[in-house]
Amino acid sequence: ETLYLALGGGIGSFVWVDTLRIYGVRPEHIRVISIARKPYERYERLLTNCQIPRWKRIRSGSDSCPDNIWGWPGYALRDAWRSFFSGRLLEAFGFLWQVFSEPLLADTYTPRAGDVFASMDREAARIGWEQMLCYGHIRAIRKTEDGRYVVAYSATRPGHTDHRFMVAKYLHLATGYPAIKLLNDLQEFREKTGDLRSVVHGYEPHDHVYEQLEKQGGTVLIRGFGIVASQVMERLYEARKVNPRISVVHLSRAPKSGNRFGRAKRAVDNHWEFQPFNWPKGTWGGVLRAKLEAATPLERRELLEAWGGTTTASRRKWRRIVRQGLREGWYSIVFGKVESVVPGDKGKPVTYIRGTHNNTQLKVEADFVIDCTGLVSDPMTNPLLNDLITHYNLPLNPHGRLHVSNDFELVEMRNRDGRMYAAGIITLGGPYAPVDTFLGLQYCAHRSVEHLARLRAPGVKGLEGIRSLWQWCKWALNISP
Ligand SMILES: Cc1cc2nc3c(=O)[nH]c(=O)nc-3n(C[C@H](O)[C@H](O)[C@H](O)COP(=O)(O)OP(=O)(O)OC[C@H]3O[C@@H](n4cnc5c(N)ncnc54)[C@H](O)[C@@H]3O)c2cc1C
Repeated sequence: ETLYLALGGGIGSFVWVDTLRIYGVRPEHIRVISIARKPYERYERLLTNCQIPRWKRIRSGSDSCPDNIWGWPGYALRDAWRSFFSGRLLEAFGFLWQVFSEPLLADTYTPRAGDVFASMDREAARIGWEQMLCYGHIRAIRKTEDGRYVVAYSATRPGHTDHRFMVAKYLHLATGYPAIKLLNDLQEFREKTGDLRSVVHGYEPHDHVYEQLEKQGGTVLIRGFGIVASQVMERLYEARKVNPRISVVHLSRAPKSGNRFGRAKRAVDNHWEFQPFNWPKGTWGGVLRAKLEAATPLERRELLEAWGGTTTASRRKWRRIVRQGLREGWYSIVFGKVESVVPGDKGKPVTYIRGTHNNTQLKVEADFVIDCTGLVSDPMTNPLLNDLITHYNLPLNPHGRLHVSNDFELVEMRNRDGRMYAAGIITLGGPYAPVDTFLGLQYCAHRSVEHLARLRAPGVKGLEGIRSLWQWCKWALNISP
């Protein structure tokens, strides 16, 4: 039995538990059920698969600090501090200049993955994360008759079956992306041929693609124009330094001219559409956040469609690689709709495309196809969420995700004083656009814990004025909250 229970154990759970701890809840009243020891374990696995090792920069701002709910000092200041004391003064100044002038005069600052993980390790130790962690696969969630919730989970390890229950009064659900799913035509190719090597998803391990290309050369077909496609392009560019006989064909449905919203228009360069983060910055805390929160569910869908879409970060290096590829002829962009992907004579994937311009059929024979179109966020594909939604007949929002209140509560799961909250991609389409970002997850945590404070939930004190300053000092001095 416990009071507060976080389900998932990823970054969303981590920032919720961090917020609870800072708001005064003691670690013995919090439990986390997870299959991962580190809160960033799944995130790091996905990053590594899409070619972002620890030393590379991710796609969030300086103030998106999952280790620090105040967001200050941000990662840029910490980077500048480190560089300054290592004697690299120009580099230190460069980071400060970036956050001062981004995105107009400099590329937007983003932290290194490894620095974010190190900062989360420090915060995890400070709040006693390991002490609260229980290993387990969550199977089902049910309301109890005494105003609480019971969670069935399996802590089975090889050779040892172990099924358990945990009972809690307040639940927080953050299970992240339910699955990785290939585009339908690529999935069909795989099912027909059983070939898991030539058609790959950018989020699954696919280092063999680069290894083979570096040895033998070949052609790669990329589908999707998001940040993963940019990372894959950079990796292919590096592979071309080892073996220049590599060519890249990039498939796009139609030429891009830049999404518009009111008088704003996104920048486009060679059909790559740019935005520093996956949502316009005003959706985190500006006027767009307020607008979305005030909108009806259907209006929210329209707004999210206008603000969202596929974009990548505008980084000088990536823009240069694309221009160089087009100029030298090893990179080309093809416009059209895929009709089928079938095995060619040598078993390689052949993609038949109906051209956008003249409706003719194009044929692209490639050694590898890399699907960079994203992850699946339909909650019905996750057995746990499917069971919860079906059993309690939970409403979904127009995006098909869990319907939450402005405080991220699953209102239909109320059980007398018991409350259940959700966060992350499973709530997309609700009151907040960037739910699947570090800062967005912190916002969800802030709203739900403030809600708990208003309900006078046990141990949750406010975090106003002096108390906030005091807690920040404890953070800065690395003292337990
Ligand atoms: C490749 C990639 C790069 C990203 N880069 C950025 C970035 O630069 N900046 C940014 O702000 N955001 C970024 N994001 C978005 C977001 O911050 C991350 O996806 C983040 O990890 C989401 O946290 P989460 O807790 O919702 O999900 P996760 O971190 O994925 O955690 C969910 C956890 O729940 C567990 N789980 C699910 N079901 C069960 C079950 N039944 N039983 C037990 N455990 C279960 C999973 O195993 C996982 O450990 C990125 C996302 C991806 C995929």
